[in-house]
Amino acid sequence: MPKKYVIANFKMNKVDKDVKFYIEQLLPKVKDVTSQVVLAVPSVSIKTAVKETKGSGVVIASQNINENGFGAFTGEINAEMVSNVGAGAVIIGHSERRSYFNETDASINKKIQKALKAGLMCVFCFGESVYDKKNNLTESALTTQITGALNNIYGNELGHIVFAYEPVWAIGTGVVATNAVIEKTLKLIRKIICNLYDEKVANEVSIVYGGSVNESNIKDIAKIANLNGVLVGGASLDPVKFSAISEAFGKTVPKK
Ligand code: PEP
Repeated sequence: MPKKYVIANFKMNKVDKDVKFYIEQLLPKVKDVTSQVVLAVPSVSIKTAVKETKGSGVVIASQNINENGFGAFTGEINAEMVSNVGAGAVIIGHSERRSYFNETDASINKKIQKALKAGLMCVFCFGESVYDKKNNLTESALTTQITGALNNIYGNELGHIVFAYEPVWAIGTGVVATNAVIEKTLKLIRKIICNLYDEKVANEVSIVYGGSVNESNIKDIAKIANLNGVLVGGASLDPVKFSAISEAFGKTVPKK
């Protein structure tokens, strides 16, 4: 059974003291959550977030890494640096990075390789644009993005990659994909992975959905068979909303 993940993406929000306060509020609320809770905080707050979540089981993630090792890349942060301060994961290939920072399938592939080498779990984001959707190009867009990102990655490494299906038209728009669309796309993603590796690998990977998930629509989304969690932007900024979303993917019931 693929592991379940509930991942918060703070994007460029919250200063360090707000991250600390958020974690203080969140931890008691997610202590019975059985899926893996991940917080992708701004890089400057990774150390604080790691300290504040120590012993809680919550994993702290970076929102990006550079695809290079050490060297003359002013302003950049690499996988080793992120791992060294205690992050356990990294978001790679978010659509905002693809569109505002010119990330390509090739650079995303390099980042995944560096992250895996540094022992980081990768939250690999991909998804069709509104143009792809309107022109029936979802299958080819996803095939290109997934194939490009997994170049030279072995099947036994896929357990360290969370596949985050994030249709670009659903991110931050309030337009959530329907369960039927998500279900159909989950099958497509497993088919693409099966063609690249085999059925066992495809059935074992964790696939999460991202795009306008909130505390109201989560109950419906969580019903989708074969969905292994969610990646949440806007609604993750509020610990009350994010804990409600987290609970939808599993919670231990206290024994009477
Ligand atoms: C995201 O940024 O990955 C995301 C899914 O954002 P939102 O939940 O705000 O649509």
